[in-house]
Amino acid sequence: MNCRECHDFIDPYIDSELDVAAAILVKHHLRDCLQCQQLLESRKALHVLLNNPQLQFEVPDSLPRKIQSALPAVTPSARHRSGGRPVIPWFTVPFALAAALAVVFGVLDRAGGNALVEEVISSHVRSLLATHLLDVPSTDQHTVKPWFNGKLKFSPPVQDFTAQGFRLIGGRLDYINGREVAALVYQRNKHIINLFIAPSESGRAAGVQSFAKDGYNVLHWDRDGFEFWAVSEVNAGDLGAFADLEMRQA
Ligand SMILES: [Zn+2]
Repeated sequence: MNCRECHDFIDPYIDSELDVAAAILVKHHLRDCLQCQQLLESRKALHVLLNNPQLQFEVPDSLPRKIQSALPAVTPSARHRSGGRPVIPWFTVPFALAAALAVVFGVLDRAGGNALVEEVISSHVRSLLATHLLDVPSTDQHTVKPWFNGKLKFSPPVQDFTAQGFRLIGGRLDYINGREVAALVYQRNKHIINLFIAPSESGRAAGVQSFAKDGYNVLHWDRDGFEFWAVSEVNAGDLGAFADLEMRQA
């Protein structure tokens, strides 16, 4: 089996829809192919996300205007026939729908086009695939925090939120955007949250920025001279609760 065939089989493989022989072929290919493993992880995360009833996308305020401007102009006679309300000829509806979808997907694509967000997500995926999730496996913040001493030029804030359902399981060194960062690893049910911490570069305004791409949620915020990136395949609500806990410790 080559990568192309593996890509075709990956969704039915996740859904256990392949026959035994095909499933074994996929499994063997995945064992040796890092790229297809990464695809598998991101597709699994996407499946989880799509099964989440809370899944929703925020419609930007500008969307109705864009749809309106994509529609053909209404002729005075059409307006007249409907007693003043504009009428959209039936044959333009599919085009209008296509235009609206193009706008929506354009918006999503822009949201995901942030290179830094992509780097945060790939660091997260790498940490899950490789054997390098933890340099210091410990659920004790008083073990994890001093472990970074001498390894980084800063001392990251380390907190455990086991009581609130986010269990600290350790930390490691990582790189984001060419910078050394502290990565704290938390467990939420069966999922992993990576929290990347580095000194804030620009004392940005308060507030949380959120991104979603390939089934991963990413949140970014600044606090007390540090910037934080939380990334996970947990749903946006859970990740928001996690960020909220971290920020409240300020
Ligand atoms: Zn492959």
